[in-house]
Amino acid sequence: MTANAGISLAGKKVLVTGGTRGIGRGVVLALARAGADVLTCYRNESEHVGTLERELKAIGGDHHVVRADVGSPEEIDRLIGECRTRLGRLDVVVNNAGVISHVPFADLPVEEWHRVVDTNLTAAYLVTQKALPLFGESASVVNVGSRVATVGIPLRAHYTAAKAGLAGLCRSLAKELGPRGIRVNVVAPGVIATEAELSPEVLARYRQMTAVRRLGRTEEIANTVLFLASDLAGYITGETVNVDGGI
Ligand code: NDP
Repeated sequence: MTANAGISLAGKKVLVTGGTRGIGRGVVLALARAGADVLTCYRNESEHVGTLERELKAIGGDHHVVRADVGSPEEIDRLIGECRTRLGRLDVVVNNAGVISHVPFADLPVEEWHRVVDTNLTAAYLVTQKALPLFGESASVVNVGSRVATVGIPLRAHYTAAKAGLAGLCRSLAKELGPRGIRVNVVAPGVIATEAELSPEVLARYRQMTAVRRLGRTEEIANTVLFLASDLAGYITGETVNVDGGI
């Protein structure tokens, strides 16, 4: 398989939220290698920003890495303004930015509920809504959900509720925006190997839960996003695609 899975996004203008690390970074690189011009955002300054900028420069194209916290409606307005100024229009939006925390439900503070729901769900609603004027005759929205949205998991009720909400948002938007040529889908990763620190015991348990006995790779999520973003998936909308190694 080639670096861009043999799929071309040449000339497409793309926004990926949360693209400096983990799955988002994999998505940004895959879409850039497929020929898209990509604008991505992050929340905190870190060495990941410069690293991604260098990687994008090596690929070539008109790419931009900007700071914008998608947990804030004002910052989302600014982010979409950056897309308008720097890219001119949008063909693809990938709502990837997400946060998670592990809290017993009985102790879950309302502030933490809002932080997780705002970043994982409300941001996807606002980014997609505010991107609408930048879409042309066709567009693809891909939301990064989670496999736990359908199976549930202890200590993550807020996260699970937000990700399940993302799937419902996707199904309704697919029907409402389909006549305008806008497709909306969800990619639901299982357990993906990122920099997140997990103990060897937890990793072994996660591996054992999968049919293929390994964690997923960020490129495997990115390739699925790339496919759904592309015209090859032109008849797929309102779907959730599980990429979970057969959990
Ligand atoms: P990481 O924590 O590794 O990276 C998250 C990225 O999103 C970073 O670039 C981060 O930027 C950015 N980000 C987080 N919050 C915001 C915000 N408020 N505004 C702007 N950018 C933000 O996450 P993963 O790669 O693990 O996860 C990516 C997506 O995949 C998430 O939606 C997650 O829920 C989902 N997912 C992940 C799984 C996994 O196993 N990793 C499994 C299932 C779903 P910064 O560096 O500035 O913080």
